[in-house]
Amino acid sequence: MKGFLHSIETMGLVDGPGTRTVFFLQGCPLRCAFCHNPDTLKRVGGQEITPQRVLEIVRRYKPYYGAEGGVTFSGGEPLLQGEFLYNTLEILKQEGYNICIDTSGFGNPTYYPKILPLVDTLILDVKAFDSESFEELTTINGFDTYLDFITNLDSYGFQGQVWIRHVMVPGFTDNEQAMKGLVQTIKPINHRVDRIEILPYHTSGVKKYHELGIPYRLEGVEPMDTEKAKDFEILANKLFAESLRQERKENEIKKQEHYKLLKDREMASEEERAEMLSQLKKLPLLSDVDKDDVEDVLNQVILSNIKAGDYIFKTGDSPDFMYLIYKGQMKIFNNTIDGEEQIFYIYRDGDFVGGLNLLVETPYRYVGQALTDCKVVAIPKVTFDRYFYDSPVVLRSVLVKSFERIRWAEDLIQRLSTSNASMKTAGLLLKLVKRIGVEIDEGIRLELSMNREELGNYSGLRRETITRKLGEFKELGYIELVGNKVIIVKDLEALESYVL
Ligand code: SF4
Repeated sequence: MKGFLHSIETMGLVDGPGTRTVFFLQGCPLRCAFCHNPDTLKRVGGQEITPQRVLEIVRRYKPYYGAEGGVTFSGGEPLLQGEFLYNTLEILKQEGYNICIDTSGFGNPTYYPKILPLVDTLILDVKAFDSESFEELTTINGFDTYLDFITNLDSYGFQGQVWIRHVMVPGFTDNEQAMKGLVQTIKPINHRVDRIEILPYHTSGVKKYHELGIPYRLEGVEPMDTEKAKDFEILANKLFAESLRQERKENEIKKQEHYKLLKDREMASEEERAEMLSQLKKLPLLSDVDKDDVEDVLNQVILSNIKAGDYIFKTGDSPDFMYLIYKGQMKIFNNTIDGEEQIFYIYRDGDFVGGLNLLVETPYRYVGQALTDCKVVAIPKVTFDRYFYDSPVVLRSVLVKSFERIRWAEDLIQRLSTSNASMKTAGLLLKLVKRIGVEIDEGIRLELSMNREELGNYSGLRRETITRKLGEFKELGYIELVGNKVIIVKDLEALESYVL
């Protein structure tokens, strides 16, 4: 495994927190008008280097890193050499190095979920704040790709902090409107941003262009006044603080609306409520709660009736509750970029959702919608923090559930990416057998809460395809269809042979 290296700075002080060794990797798909390293743009060339060699070099400088410093990968665009970078970060992380990546978000997306969880600080270059200016400055029509990158940082598993950097070129973004645009652009990652830095455009790279015989697009543009750039940096940070305040207010309003929604649907009948509370007392979840506190917990939970089709939470909602499905079924899904619904899980009696979100305080990345009329127990965050946060039983349950969901998601990815329609349909039926199958004399009965379209969304198939496939399986004698809502699996082995 080899990477292409442009150069190394052994004791960098500006590319991430503390003192750092900076590896400038070769290659970048952008062509920024102000780029002062045009010699790093070619993908190949420079010096070849292995992950092991990187490790040997940083070991030498480790004594200088102190508590904050570490290793930075810059460029060029370091994410472009995804495989090399991932292999390198893995071995660096094993020895506990602090990692920083300086990127514009134009790498190899296949490696993002592997690389980004290993990164402590992301220095994120923001070139421009709309499609037109982005293309004008970089020659690439890539503003949407950039927005995709930053919007998905959390879903790639990134948990670190972000330093925003913007190169200010006189006549381009040295105005208040542009600073508002900058703050608006980084909104999806507000919760990760630690600082915004404005770098004044300078002309020290022009000579390299002349030497390489490359035309310089900003010929004649004066360097940015450093004092003015500082003032814009202060302005951008003030606007950012204002945007955070605004976001907090909006979240507070959303939270109250959500709370009201659950309260409005609270159990009407005292009997129903009493029955549910007596059942809840038996939950293993409550076994770590001091006996004297159990009543207190039960007084704080909200018991809601949710009608089929109503939303319980949506993507982006802050984690304010953990939900326990007392009765009924809930689907968890996301809309794909094609506007299709992709169902991830169906939760039913006794399942809970939101525990992990409360533990790590991340917003929901999916939608929860009642598939049937549901009775839901909403445990508010304050109650969770007070009585459950340290409970080994709760932590174990959340971990077990998370693990099950990871396995399920891996399986789903596998099915969606590698299976044909028969395999996907058989895989789905087998999952349903495990989840809701009831043995009867004729086989295994599946009572469905989903229509054909939702079944399709669950398995990555179109409604017509899943209907056709179920028909074929029926013809083959593998299943029996009873109306639209019941399937009886008659030949489990035959279904298994599709997926094994
Ligand atoms: S992203 Fe960085 S390396 Fe790539 S062209 Fe722009 S300034 Fe140069």
